[in-house]
Amino acid sequence: MAAHDAWALVCRLFAGGTPVLRATLPPREASVLSTLGKAVKTTVVDQSFVLCPHCQQHRAQVWGDGRGGRMCRCPDCGPVTVEAADGAALALDEDWLRQKLRLALGIESRDGIDDLGGGVWRLGDSRRSPVLLARNLTRVLHEPALLERVRVRVAGGEIRLITPRSSAARGSPFSAGVEWLVLEERFTFYGGAITFIPSGPSAAPAVIDPTAPVNGPFSANFRWATLPNISDTPIQFTQGQAKVFEALWSFKGEATTADRIMQRAGQKSDKPSDLFKIKAKDKGKPEPAAQHAAYGALVITQQRAGLYSMPCAAVALA
Ligand SMILES: [Zn+2]
Repeated sequence: MAAHDAWALVCRLFAGGTPVLRATLPPREASVLSTLGKAVKTTVVDQSFVLCPHCQQHRAQVWGDGRGGRMCRCPDCGPVTVEAADGAALALDEDWLRQKLRLALGIESRDGIDDLGGGVWRLGDSRRSPVLLARNLTRVLHEPALLERVRVRVAGGEIRLITPRSSAARGSPFSAGVEWLVLEERFTFYGGAITFIPSGPSAAPAVIDPTAPVNGPFSANFRWATLPNISDTPIQFTQGQAKVFEALWSFKGEATTADRIMQRAGQKSDKPSDLFKIKAKDKGKPEPAAQHAAYGALVITQQRAGLYSMPCAAVALA
């Protein structure tokens, strides 16, 4: 897990864009610093304010104690001695990050990195696609001109945009022509190098078609039926109609009384066909007509005995 934690720290430092006080690092992050080597540099932040070394809850102003030492005045702890180390901070070597990302994406080293300003860099071209690194996705979303500027240079090439994870977007917030690579997810850090994780076919989310026939001609929730003799496209049912079909399905093709079917379906009507009647106001509308036709094609009624069955439920079991 050390490599994972190390990469998480790199991403956090890049997203923040400012040094963090070493004293504020959680132990988990502090423990991976040695793994990161040159990627994280020690620096010193403005020492006129420090995080109170005693409670680590308040930022407090630093004063000379008149004897060559320093102290801060914490609102909770009062005067606390400040050691020189308390201002020690860590900063990401962002040039290291940009160079390693270039290597990960196979960007030719002869074209340089362009600083586009405001935390956006053009890392170069990877397989004829311009690659941008941005500290903040929102900034790019609010300034589409940035992408346009890059797009003009390489006609037709898809832009690859790397940014830290963003609460502003899930999936891809861009239309065609921009591939968004989430820094935390599409790259890893191991053995001093950054590796790109290409999205293989297995990484693509399975496309689930809610209308797909799963139970005989019916969809998983019985709200749709695929009946090519009646309609070229799946027929959609009302909630009540779907409940009736689901109840009929559960009787596995056996003839059953209307009472039992309607009880199982949880519907108030007397018999299954009641829910499929075409109301006067719906005359001529295609949906009620298709629902009515579907019922007629799937359900067998023994009028005299008052029994209903749905043969496709028996066939599907065989
Ligand atoms: Zn304190």
